[in-house]
Amino acid sequence: MNIKSNPLRQPLLALLLAVALGQGAALAQVPAAPIPLQAQPARQSASAALAPMLGATKAGQRIVAVGDYGIALLSDDDGKHFRQAGKMPVSSTLTAVSFADDKNGWAVGHWGAIVHTTDGGENWAIQRLDTQEDRPLFSVHFFNAEEGVAVGLWSLVLRTHDGGKSWETVQIPAPPEGGKADRNLFKIFVSPKGSLFVAAERGAVLRSDDKGQTWHYLNTGYKGSLWTGLALADGSLIVAGLRGSLYRSGDDGKSWQAVDSGSKSSLTDLVQVDKRIVGVGLDGVEIESHDGGIGCRRQWPGAFFPARRGRADACQQALSFTVEPKNNQETNMKIFSMLIDGQPIAARTTFPVINPATGTAFALVPAGDASHVDAAVAAARRAFPAWSRTPDGERQRLLHALGAALEAHMPELMELVTLETGKPLGGLNGVGAGMEVGGSIAWTHVTADLELPVEILQDNAEARVEIHRKPLGVVGSITPWNWPLMIAIWHVIPALRAGNTVVIKPSELSPVATARFVELANAILPPGVLNLVTGAAGSEVGPAMASHPGIDKIVFTGSTATGRRIMAAGAGNLKRLTLELGGNDAGIVLPDVDVKAIAPKLFGVTFHNNGQTCACLKRLYVHESIYEELCGELARIALTTVVGDGLQAETQLGPIQNAMQLAKVEELAADARAQGGRFLCGGQRRAGAGYFYEPTIVADLTDGSRLVDEEPFGPILPVIKYSDVDEVIARANQSLNGLGGSVWSADLVRAAELAQRLECGTAWVNEHGAVQPDAPFGGVKQSGIGVEFGRHGLAEYTSIQTLKIMKS
Ligand code: NAD
Repeated sequence: MNIKSNPLRQPLLALLLAVALGQGAALAQVPAAPIPLQAQPARQSASAALAPMLGATKAGQRIVAVGDYGIALLSDDDGKHFRQAGKMPVSSTLTAVSFADDKNGWAVGHWGAIVHTTDGGENWAIQRLDTQEDRPLFSVHFFNAEEGVAVGLWSLVLRTHDGGKSWETVQIPAPPEGGKADRNLFKIFVSPKGSLFVAAERGAVLRSDDKGQTWHYLNTGYKGSLWTGLALADGSLIVAGLRGSLYRSGDDGKSWQAVDSGSKSSLTDLVQVDKRIVGVGLDGVEIESHDGGIGCRRQWPGAFFPARRGRADACQQALSFTVEPKNNQETNMKIFSMLIDGQPIAARTTFPVINPATGTAFALVPAGDASHVDAAVAAARRAFPAWSRTPDGERQRLLHALGAALEAHMPELMELVTLETGKPLGGLNGVGAGMEVGGSIAWTHVTADLELPVEILQDNAEARVEIHRKPLGVVGSITPWNWPLMIAIWHVIPALRAGNTVVIKPSELSPVATARFVELANAILPPGVLNLVTGAAGSEVGPAMASHPGIDKIVFTGSTATGRRIMAAGAGNLKRLTLELGGNDAGIVLPDVDVKAIAPKLFGVTFHNNGQTCACLKRLYVHESIYEELCGELARIALTTVVGDGLQAETQLGPIQNAMQLAKVEELAADARAQGGRFLCGGQRRAGAGYFYEPTIVADLTDGSRLVDEEPFGPILPVIKYSDVDEVIARANQSLNGLGGSVWSADLVRAAELAQRLECGTAWVNEHGAVQPDAPFGGVKQSGIGVEFGRHGLAEYTSIQTLKIMKS
């Protein structure tokens, strides 16, 4: 076994491009969603230059590659030059291609499409569409011009005997572990003797010895997705997949042995060249074995431009294997898995996560669905009996270990938080990714130390009465995008501390720090105790959790509207709920303050994280005697605040987290202008890439205007004049929300009295939004139900059992 600087120069290895990986299409970067199949010509070559190519094969001497947007590229000079096929009737992703001879070829892809060529790939015609079921095909193989097999989503197997004119669906058996035949079938590979194998989800390899008519499972013992495989002449089988997994069987698939690939990145394809086996994977990983794959090692991140994610020009070079690493964002794309029952799990597609500072994708996350929720809940239910009976001290020890793991990975987690939320690493007044990760560590340790001891109500000659706190079972956690890691910790740690098991679903807009946290946690916790299911925007994952009969409690942080939906959906099994919802917090400034001294503090509690914090100050009521002075100070600070990419050390405010939220802020600003609001600074988005909006102070508005009445959740603050303190308390309390509120004054006694008159879950004096892990935090009115943090928060993850022991 050896390592060469670039062993992939041989044109033959162009076949490495044939990455018939199910998730392939989702790795298409722009646009993220598959383009619906339409009977229309392929896009022009300008688009072809942007298309990731997902499958390739040889048709005689020609290389034919297929990929996104239904693009097929042909090369007649061993991959030195490529041109686009003439006629292609689909514009959706093609994932794989197979030729029976140098003329007859078939490509398969999304929407169950099968297209056929009889002229070596120059022109293609539709053979099959499956637009109703939307079940993508991931791999195809033709034995000859008549007989072929295609496989795809959810155990879909199609077979043809007439060159693809008609296709029959072949039923495959239920999996050996029980349940439906519903795993994704990713890659067909064929042995020299003609046996057909399919690398599949959940560690399975399927085998057919009659050209796809009947199938049986070979169990590798692996639980993650297998994306590719190779059958060698000596009867050995090698399969590879998620996170560098590599398994080998020397006895025709009867027994399997894990082989260390040396790669932590997923392997997407394997090919045999002479005596060597070469594999490629995500993150530019390449592995090579000279001993038939008995031992493999090699990790070479970034050194080889990943062909499957390459643009067509890069792809062209990749096919001739002369590509050097490029400063291309796609090469740095981070890939994440779901985690169910301690195993990394992929979904049929992924969705991109956008860095709001650039507006471009930097990570890919599995687009899970209700079946993944079912699997995660089942795993959590299986893990519950042992976890709930684990001695208290042991649970505490494991949670402290988790806190230590977070600490050990702090820089990595901070960067992920900044990339997905836009919040600066440091940030205004130190409120940024560092605080988010640091707070997560602190919350983990403090919560691990919390106790809910047995209370003894009575212990006399007649009876002893004890109150016990018992875990609820499976807790479903649904989190928002603004403080993704911290809020995940707020949900997960007390749930686990109390003896529950957890299924967490992070926001589709910022799932990656949570995914990494769950991965770190699963190296410490028993399988199934903490499971992660990710879902794309509008997916069924959240609703499936809210209504799932196997989930006993939902802890949700997010908007009031979604909170209502979750409450309704949870009625079926009377789920326990903790709902931390929206707020439109008022701050009231009394006339006795030192304006210059409090202005920076007021600015900080309003604008940190760009106002995208549930308990930020969102409406500022200022006494008329100091109104202009305070407005002027706030505007002055806003104008000197550094807005930029959160990865830059000097940045105080990053971008707004997503385009929709930016549009909402713009809409509220437009309404404020129409209402006669006086813009003291900002009031517009910044030109260029990313979702940047200038910090904005608006004077002269009053209650009844949208910017005052609605939660803006962005860097824009209405400053409202008042003259009478009783009246202003009533105005502050008019809101349907009641998360937080504050009073600012030099007279602490008076301020505390007034603060207590505010209808909100937390009232601050000369502060706003500051929370701590031992003090309960929650909303009243429509800001939520229940509290988090401290003993009170921990108790919400338990039910009470009263134990009465009669002594006489
Ligand atoms: P959101 O309600 O849009 O989404 C929150 C989560 O709910 C996401 O994971 C989303 O995928 C999921 N979801 C959406 N529809 C669902 C459904 N029908 N069933 C189940 N899950 C569903 O909120 P957001 O935009 O992510 O967050 C911003 C809001 O969160 C703001 O209103 C903010 O005030 C609030 N928030 C409150 C707190 C708090 O502690 N009170 C903290 C942070 C944010």
